[in-house]
Amino acid sequence: MRLILFGPPGAGKGTQAKLLEEKIGVRQLSTGDMFRNAIKNQTPLGVKVKAIMDAGKLVGDDVVVEMVAETISKPEYAKGYILDGFPRTVAQAEALDSMLSKRGEKIDAFVALEVPDEQLIARLVNRGQGREDDTPDKIKVRLDVYKKETAPVLAYYEGKGQARLVNGLGTIEAIQQRILDAVV
Ligand code: AMP
Repeated sequence: MRLILFGPPGAGKGTQAKLLEEKIGVRQLSTGDMFRNAIKNQTPLGVKVKAIMDAGKLVGDDVVVEMVAETISKPEYAKGYILDGFPRTVAQAEALDSMLSKRGEKIDAFVALEVPDEQLIARLVNRGQGREDDTPDKIKVRLDVYKKETAPVLAYYEGKGQARLVNGLGTIEAIQQRILDAVV
């Protein structure tokens, strides 16, 4: 199963992706986590993306696409994966389509978590992970970036008839069940 878990920052993609790993038996692939690890380990990639991430902006499409392409070719992702935080631009979605079609593969489901802005802001402010990009001014930048650059990705998958909208409000368990209902 190749699943895209889509939604604005604070929608609960990471939380849900981690829970779904066990339920559907494939791994979470979070581009944000990969970048945070690279920064923590001070790799060349980490050094390159730190300032962009801290500002709440998007890392360049080429860098992200190359990282995802490398990752999905690993044997542990052969059965599928839950994409969390990717694709975040239409260019990334197109690049994903082309890398999958070269491999004779496709996305099985695209699930968009819907959460109103006020709720997103409250969740991000309360997240308390000490993330550099979870401060009020960075949160505003990230929501603006989402609306301008990422929201069109939903229209892209709607155009392909693949998008399923899921209410992202409620308990973690209730939301998880809605996602499972949407993907089967
Ligand atoms: P996330 O953990 O998904 O909220 O991602 C945190 C940050 O990592 C984002 O604000 C971006 O700076 C960067 N990032 C993660 N995924 C992507 C992506 N697909 N394209 C561009 N930047 C990304």
